[in-house]
Amino acid sequence: MNQAKIIDGNAVAAEVRATVAARVATLKEAGGPTPGLAVVLVGADPASQVYVRNKNKRAVEVGMNSFEHFLPAETTEQDLLTLVERLNLDHRVHGILVQLPLPKQIDAQKVLESIHPAKDVDGFHPFNVGRLVTGGAALVPCTPLGCLLLLKRELGNLSGKRAIVLGRSNIVGKPMAQLLLRESATVTIAHSRTQDLPGECRRADIVVAAVGRPEMVRGDWIKPGATVIDVGINRVPAAEEGKTRLVGDVAFAEAATVAGAITPVPGGVGPMTIAILLRNAVEACCRLHDLPFEEVL
Ligand code: NDP
Repeated sequence: MNQAKIIDGNAVAAEVRATVAARVATLKEAGGPTPGLAVVLVGADPASQVYVRNKNKRAVEVGMNSFEHFLPAETTEQDLLTLVERLNLDHRVHGILVQLPLPKQIDAQKVLESIHPAKDVDGFHPFNVGRLVTGGAALVPCTPLGCLLLLKRELGNLSGKRAIVLGRSNIVGKPMAQLLLRESATVTIAHSRTQDLPGECRRADIVVAAVGRPEMVRGDWIKPGATVIDVGINRVPAAEEGKTRLVGDVAFAEAATVAGAITPVPGGVGPMTIAILLRNAVEACCRLHDLPFEEVL
């Protein structure tokens, strides 16, 4: 029976972090800037606290300066905008990330748009979104860029490949589709109103699933030999009473009997996101200082 190659996101992410660490060291040795990443968390959402701590820990590991800002849940929009403005002007800070979701008294879009585009390491600012679509240097959202690097490493040239992106969010689906288009793939974007999703999927050489629906993509949706990137992170009840486990948007065991290569959940796309955030902070630092930036993989 066919058994797909399992794409080891942990290993690739470790490679990205090692390259980032080497770049940071080179910058410092040359007397250049030390890339600095500022992460802002409003409120005490436990999942967000874990993400933010991980981001800071990883930033320090690669030799960056890390600035943590923990604000209370009742922070006003104006207070957050004032902090972002301060970070925009702080020369030690090259990347600013405001952890989402934000409390409901704060307009998240307004805050994201207040981040200077050159420091927008999440790539959510309309300037960077526009650049991604129209061409030119842009900071690109971390998760889709991580998926693209995994795909290019697996397949090399993506030109002419048929790709389907399941999901059209601003964070994953839309930027993913733009990145694939930039690589000259033929891209279909599917969403909750798409008709005959299995049929659309079966035509694709590349499937990127980002729908947030546990194991929605079945084995018989996959074209034999296709490359499957599973972005989904879904917590579902485990066999053992009271326990939970993580699954992706793809029914992994089924799809692995048909696909050429597939990312597991966990251990696929997940670890790439923070590694790419660090990459983006180095890119932002280099561009802000007019230094050349080379891709990390
Ligand atoms: P959103 O909920 O913002 O978007 C989901 C998209 O999937 C929407 O476009 C929606 O369509 C589409 N969709 C939902 N149900 C169906 C369906 N039955 N058939 C077809 N399309 C459907 O999610 P995100 O993009 O933020 O995240 C997607 C998944 O990726 C989640 O599991 C999330 O946890 C995970 N994720 C993982 C990250 C990582 O680091 N690995 C980072 C970010 C997200 P419509 O627009 O029509 O409603």
